Amino acid sequence: MSQPPVDVVGLTREELESLLESLGEPRYRGRQVFQWVQARRARRPEAMTSLSKALRGLLAERVRADRPELAQMQQAADGTRKYLFRLGDGEEIESVLIPDEDRLTACISTQVGCPLACRFCLTGLMGLRRNLAAGEIVGQVLSLQEALEPAERISNMVLMGMGEPLLNFPNVEKALDILCDELGASFSPRRITLSTAGHVPGIQKLAASKLAVNLAVSLSATTDAVRDQLMPINRRWPIAELLAACREFPLPNRRRLSFEYVMLDQVNDHREDAHRLAKLLRGIRCKINLIPFNATPDLPDRPSPRQRVEAFQKILHDAGLTATIRESRGWDISAACGMLRTEQGRA
Ligand code: SAH
Repeated sequence: MSQPPVDVVGLTREELESLLESLGEPRYRGRQVFQWVQARRARRPEAMTSLSKALRGLLAERVRADRPELAQMQQAADGTRKYLFRLGDGEEIESVLIPDEDRLTACISTQVGCPLACRFCLTGLMGLRRNLAAGEIVGQVLSLQEALEPAERISNMVLMGMGEPLLNFPNVEKALDILCDELGASFSPRRITLSTAGHVPGIQKLAASKLAVNLAVSLSATTDAVRDQLMPINRRWPIAELLAACREFPLPNRRRLSFEYVMLDQVNDHREDAHRLAKLLRGIRCKINLIPFNATPDLPDRPSPRQRVEAFQKILHDAGLTATIRESRGWDISAACGMLRTEQGRA
């Protein structure tokens, strides 16, 4: 019996070098295969024309370079595009591309569904179906890049799609390692942001890893009583512990943490909340992203009126903090923050 083919999209450069070595080839052949898969986005060994015909034949039997299959694309009035991908086992995920004047941001999923059940997020209603493999996370980016116009290039990446990235840390870490490899897609870690609902051990692992990506923390409340209600993960790691981990997070020069704050009418948008938030974040080099709540009939809360969001922002500004209001993008196709839920996830 021959072995099943190895999926190479989720292999690091070193792993591919070892794989080729195990096939009796020099290690640099592994590097070439890595370049073909990650930089030139070859889907099949037959296309890797810098390799000998014999080696291509051998690889065709031994490896696959599978990607999530693009099942649907929707474009919003504001240019935001949402992609539905089908995975090898039939599970589905969504990714979003957000064009701006000078950037094109890819919003990537790390899990099918999410176990955290935040009250304001539709993905949470799906529950966790499974983690994505490293190759599925990388494949998502390769497939997105492929779906672009030839002149377009993904400039920024946010791990803010479906799932909690720090609950799938080994696969996320490996995927980012592959995507940042200079012989592959060569993303700059400075242009990647990982967003967490506040998984403290995960933040510590990220701090200790060599991945120098940006960290965003979804805070969305200023008291444990309220945060417990909104984000059940707070019952395990309350605000003080979360912010202690943030204070310890190593920040390179001129970089800042981000705190995301979903604005819910009469829930977390009081003047007292703004004052408390300023006090909680004192001494942390950070910026705050106020996110207008994207309401849907399946979620209980209402969005804060614009004046309340602006009054909240003003209090933060007056306290010396940087706070921006994130413009909601892709709302009409359910591509905005917290709105990623596949049809499968309604079953
Ligand atoms: N699990 C990670 C990654 C998902 S990021 C995290 O929680 O950070 C998704 C972002 O969208 C989070 O900042 C979250 O607070 C925000 N969000 C979720 N549901 C939303 C909604 N209905 N409206 C606006 N923002 C929402």
